[in-house]
Amino acid sequence: MSRDIRYSVVIPVYNEEVVLAQTYQRLKKVMSSTGESYELIFVNDGSSDHSAALIKEYCDCDLSVKLISFSRNFGHQIAITAGMDYAKGAAIVVIDADLQDPPEFILEMIAKWKEGYEVVYAKRRHRSGETFFKKQTAHLFYRLLRASTEIDIPVDTGDFRLIDRKVCDVLKQMPEKNRYVRGLVSWVGFRQTAVEYDRDPRLAGESKYPLKKMIKLCLDGLTSFSLKPIKLASYSGGAFIIIGLAYLVFLALAKLSGGLVSGWNLVLSNVWLLTGLILTMMGIMGEYVGRIYDEARNRPLYIVGESYRSEEKERSVIK
Ligand code: UDP
Ligand code: MG
Repeated sequence: MSRDIRYSVVIPVYNEEVVLAQTYQRLKKVMSSTGESYELIFVNDGSSDHSAALIKEYCDCDLSVKLISFSRNFGHQIAITAGMDYAKGAAIVVIDADLQDPPEFILEMIAKWKEGYEVVYAKRRHRSGETFFKKQTAHLFYRLLRASTEIDIPVDTGDFRLIDRKVCDVLKQMPEKNRYVRGLVSWVGFRQTAVEYDRDPRLAGESKYPLKKMIKLCLDGLTSFSLKPIKLASYSGGAFIIIGLAYLVFLALAKLSGGLVSGWNLVLSNVWLLTGLILTMMGIMGEYVGRIYDEARNRPLYIVGESYRSEEKERSVIK
């Protein structure tokens, strides 16, 4: 594999014909200003418009442009993954095609990378031009995800980021299907830093993330990095058992003090107890399912950042 290329820019594209020309021009300008070699990898995620034909035109007159075209729409996260698989650069930048993420910002990311950071992610300070609903649901989702997982997944951060070749190679070893790429990038560790930016409105066209895709992304994020939902069954089961027992004790005390305890009261306490038992058993099964899920995802057990032997008087970085 040729490692001559310094930067790979991965651009997922789904029906973006109205913005592509501008995206290409701006990216080309920014990347050539680095004075180093680069490639622009457009991943056409099954567009039904002329996106692919346009990118082919850029390919014909610009050797730094590459096109990977999916046979159908596989989704944003898979498109990013494919781009990373094909990227040859020493640093890989992922950027949306709609110019909501300003390409000029890549230079700042590169500067951070040169300082030694292996992941530079762009954190949104403001998001303009998006609906109230989108902003609020995104705000809530990032915080919910953060609260339910032990991994430090930064809030208000999309897929606009730069990753080092080392990080990219590690991501390629993670074969899980329902991918939440930004979570995986946090999971792998390495030296990470943020740069803040204001998210622009979409240049043209509409968001390709309808509610259905947003819910899928949200579920992928939550289920890939948290077992808390599965633990809900055990917690609520425990609570039901306690309520059932407390009610039974209350009934016994009422009976002892000469009160009237009907069969109906006993049935109710039994309902609480049995529901609690069933939920607890489901929770226990959930723990096993969680472990099976952990095994099935097949993530690497550990990731070596670098290894060091003092005799060598030099650092060798293990991929
Ligand atoms: N995208 C994609 N496949 C999809 C949906 C979106 O490759 O199924 C691309 C899209 O072309 C864009 C990026 O992913 O480059 C982000 O999508 P969009 O701007 O529609 O999302 P939003 O910014 O509204 O969250
Ligand atoms: Mg967008």
